[in-house]
Amino acid sequence: MKELTEQYLMEAIEDSKPFASSGNVNMNIPNTDETLKDLLGVTIITMDQECYCAGDYMECVPMQSTSKIIGLMLALQDFGKDRVFQAVGMEPMGDFFNSISQLESYDTSKPFNPMINAGAIAVAALIKGQSVEKRFERYLNFLKKITSHEELWMSEEVYEAEKANGARNRSLAYFMQSTGTLVTDVEEALDLYFRMNAVMMNCEDFARVGLFLARGGRAPHTEERLIPPHHLRTVKAIMMTSGMYNSSGHYAVEAGIPCKSGVSGSIIGAIPGRMGIGVIGPAIDEKGNSTAGGALIKKLSQDLGLNMFGIENIEKER
Ligand code: GLU
Repeated sequence: MKELTEQYLMEAIEDSKPFASSGNVNMNIPNTDETLKDLLGVTIITMDQECYCAGDYMECVPMQSTSKIIGLMLALQDFGKDRVFQAVGMEPMGDFFNSISQLESYDTSKPFNPMINAGAIAVAALIKGQSVEKRFERYLNFLKKITSHEELWMSEEVYEAEKANGARNRSLAYFMQSTGTLVTDVEEALDLYFRMNAVMMNCEDFARVGLFLARGGRAPHTEERLIPPHHLRTVKAIMMTSGMYNSSGHYAVEAGIPCKSGVSGSIIGAIPGRMGIGVIGPAIDEKGNSTAGGALIKKLSQDLGLNMFGIENIEKER
């Protein structure tokens, strides 16, 4: 087992960087170009708030799909588990994140889980607030508290691009309206979903979200409990089974860490009782996961003994 130090993290970054060559940068995101391909950064924050960073950890990318876990937390807070999972399932699936086929071919009453786009749109529709603006304000304020980063902001450019490229998400949403899954205003649910995707974060912000999940839902400095631990258990379970799109099984086996990735190359990892991890590596594979970031997550798990299924790590320590 290796010791967590910044020196170790720098070596881990160097070992994982070559995996970027097998991925591609998502050019739908504004201000993105091939030069981002080789970026790789990581921040780890432990339970006692020790912060370790290496590589391009200062980079900022849009949250994209990592926003799905924040939306899920708010919906659970607003309606509780039973109501939320009436609107969306909790089963993993093997299709792509923007799959439309599952909506029609399996259970038409709800999307498979909250980590695919259809599921996240259905969850966004549940988040309470009098208008889209108010609902997004709640989302952003919640994120600011979790990350203790008052300056968090939404990129208008990314938001506009999400809207402009949103045909597939619109199709998912209107299909769900046709089956009665989505009963609130479809355009409002989509608009909130697009805004949620466009919030800009760096590795520390992502790591703080992971830490929040790992340490029972308390705000970093005030220790205020923002969400009950039983909701966080639900979110981490869904991350483990569905957070890495249709590679979630692979990551459960190879890393054993509840993770959520986004097509900007971001990954949030939450190791209960131990640490939060934030990774940015913009080159992604065909499933939407950062290639170098994914390699790094697997390496960290192995070297630092983070696999949640790894009882042998505890036995070694005895
Ligand atoms: N903005 C992307 C979409 O809605 C997010 C997908 C992702 O990060 O998985 O399709």
